[in-house]
Amino acid sequence: MAAKDPLSTTPDTDPNTFTNAEGEDIMYELVDQEEEWKRCLDEMRQAVSKENIIALDCEGDNLSRKGKMQLLSIATRDYAYALDIQKLKLLPFVSGLKEVLEDKNVMKLMFDCREDADALFNQFHVKLDGVLDIQLLEIMKRSQFEGNAINRKRGDHAIHAIRLDSLFDCIKEFGKSDEMIKQKKEGMGRKNEWANRPLTVEQMKYAKTDVLSLFCLFDHFKPVDEEMSRLKIASQIYVDLKRSIPNREYNDFENNRYLPVDVIPDKGSVSFPVGDISCKTCHRRFPRAEFSNSQLKTNNQMCRTCKKVKNDNDLHQNRLDNYERAQYRRSWYDDSSSDDDGIYEFNRILSLYLAVMKKK
Ligand SMILES: [Zn+2]
Repeated sequence: MAAKDPLSTTPDTDPNTFTNAEGEDIMYELVDQEEEWKRCLDEMRQAVSKENIIALDCEGDNLSRKGKMQLLSIATRDYAYALDIQKLKLLPFVSGLKEVLEDKNVMKLMFDCREDADALFNQFHVKLDGVLDIQLLEIMKRSQFEGNAINRKRGDHAIHAIRLDSLFDCIKEFGKSDEMIKQKKEGMGRKNEWANRPLTVEQMKYAKTDVLSLFCLFDHFKPVDEEMSRLKIASQIYVDLKRSIPNREYNDFENNRYLPVDVIPDKGSVSFPVGDISCKTCHRRFPRAEFSNSQLKTNNQMCRTCKKVKNDNDLHQNRLDNYERAQYRRSWYDDSSSDDDGIYEFNRILSLYLAVMKKK
């Protein structure tokens, strides 16, 4: 491949920290010309004909249907490309990429595909399919999750919602690469600058790590037959979760750090019971047993995840209130002790009161 190294202007840094099975460096090529894109598509198709798997990640400031997609990283085990969507706009999608992304037989490793899927659908009319979401796979590998049969504990709110790990958490715990951690850390400060051009070395390294670490994590977790079937079902639900919302609210019930209810099927199961009652906050439908009788009576039913989010928010608000009260008390004390006006005023009112009482 006649790859151009976009980082070659910085000879003191080595972007090639990822290697393929042969130990060769994997280049991360910036694609912002039509000719480059055509070559990229050819190379990707060849790779997919050998092993039906790619890794995918989109970058953009507040990426969603609203936040514009600026960069789309796509990788095979040997090549990685950064498609400059800000420059190429619709071109890749109308000339081959849409077919690849919508092909359910081409497996796409992603990490939390929800916002990417929402952006792809609403900005480029691409209905992403064939996702294997590593964020879900990591949860499936937690013994605590598999042991709890979480979906069958419907209505048992003592079982708290399951916390989602970030990609950075996973790289730190399972990536076994200090270089990956470093590249993620260095790029984090520039997270909301994806519209800037040219992209910085740190941004390119960050985006490269986001897409190439997915192969490392997938190989680390190695989902087997039954797990793989459940992962496919879970990822299919996940990919549709945000793009299927008609009007997004962007509130904490939509965006939080917990696994939504009824996404990963329990061991030995591949489906969920049909829901007929909507959660009042996330608006997803669940069986009646998801909700308590008192919730249903007051028409204020919340699924386990939403309830956890609300509890967290209430706790946070209480802490804020307590802090504000403490600040107020401190400021009153500080004011009255800095000059003696407060104490003087208190004494004046007290003596007036005592005088009145004496007269009575
Ligand atoms: Zn809910």
